[in-house]
Amino acid sequence: GGTIGILGAGQLGRMLALVARRMGYRVAVFGGDRSCPAGQVCDQIWPGNYDDEDSLREFAAASDVVTYEFENIPSKAAAFIADLVPLRPGAALLNAAQNRFAEKTALTGIGLPTAGFRMVHSATELADARRDFGGNVILKANTDGYDGKGQWSIGPDTDLKKLWPDTGLPEAIVEQRVDFEFELSVVAGRFDDGTVRAFAPLLNHHENHILDVSILGSPKVTPKIGARAEEMARAVLEHFDVVGVLCIELFLTSGGDLVVNEIAPRPHNSGHLTIEAHNCSQFELQLRAACGLPATDLVPRFPAAAMANLLGQHLPEAWMSWNPEGFSAKECHLHLYGKPDRRPNRKMGHITALDTAGDAAEQAVRALRTQLR
Ligand code: ATP
Ligand code: MG
Ligand code: MG
Repeated sequence: GGTIGILGAGQLGRMLALVARRMGYRVAVFGGDRSCPAGQVCDQIWPGNYDDEDSLREFAAASDVVTYEFENIPSKAAAFIADLVPLRPGAALLNAAQNRFAEKTALTGIGLPTAGFRMVHSATELADARRDFGGNVILKANTDGYDGKGQWSIGPDTDLKKLWPDTGLPEAIVEQRVDFEFELSVVAGRFDDGTVRAFAPLLNHHENHILDVSILGSPKVTPKIGARAEEMARAVLEHFDVVGVLCIELFLTSGGDLVVNEIAPRPHNSGHLTIEAHNCSQFELQLRAACGLPATDLVPRFPAAAMANLLGQHLPEAWMSWNPEGFSAKECHLHLYGKPDRRPNRKMGHITALDTAGDAAEQAVRALRTQLR
């Protein structure tokens, strides 16, 4: 028994809540209402007023352990809760993951490579950074960004005198643009006795800075790359003394090196395929770790899997046109998050296919998604 408290009411909270219920836990959510993806499937919910100490206190009192499904929780509220009830993963990881500069500083501090980065406060500083980083950079809001929001791609010819005031930001982080072969991610969990369990790395394709397709079992992720990526995830888990799940997003550079893009201090969109592809999903891993349960081995059910995101523009009547018959994939699954309104680039659901090869699984999810349009 017991109640899992979740900060945040989006689709990650929903999928976590559904697993928590299957495991026999009750679920308290902070950060929305009954129409939110997690609000629809929890036992109790508080609106997202992180300044209201009374409701934070009530939420903490209702929860035996608290975890979070998004990183942009005010750190004051997180600290307030952590004083009352175990917060897993803890505040150290959360604080680093919500500030790109702090995050990259911590990563380089433990010897993990990142793209070159620097804070800027003006068009002139931005121009200097662009010059120093070789002409191609990405400007990012230092806090609160997700799904590529608050990011500007800058090339040698971009008019920075115009762009800087357009951002409306007092300061921002500039990153060197990494010339990558592909992107990958590692979802991993750490238990309170220090045991680490990692899923095999996923290969990720982005469209417009938003995750589009993830693949498990791609031959491009060689055993050597995979082992190095998992080692990096372990280093981050240990550095922040994490109890819970996180994801590291990585670039494989054209020179064959792994560079960390960012840390998500929670289950990750790329890990959604673990729901069907493994004996234990990323959400179950998070719950097991957060609740102090024994570590479980992560066993793939199929050699390969792929996931395609469904954004607002992708699905008119998904279940009406969902027809995996005729596809050779071993299993195909459609997930919808119950979001009340459909907007372009809003994550509404995803498709997972399980197969014997990564390419085949990828083709299946792409074709199934096309069929829904
Ligand atoms: P989310 O948290 O939803 O993953 P985000 O808004 O925090 O997204 P990032 O992960 O920083 O954004 O960037 C989104 C994508 O933009 C990356 O996955 C990558 O495709 C591209 N990108 C970001 N930074 C760089 C970089 N320094 N060099 C090359 N590509 C980059
Ligand atoms: Mg991010
Ligand atoms: Mg990212």
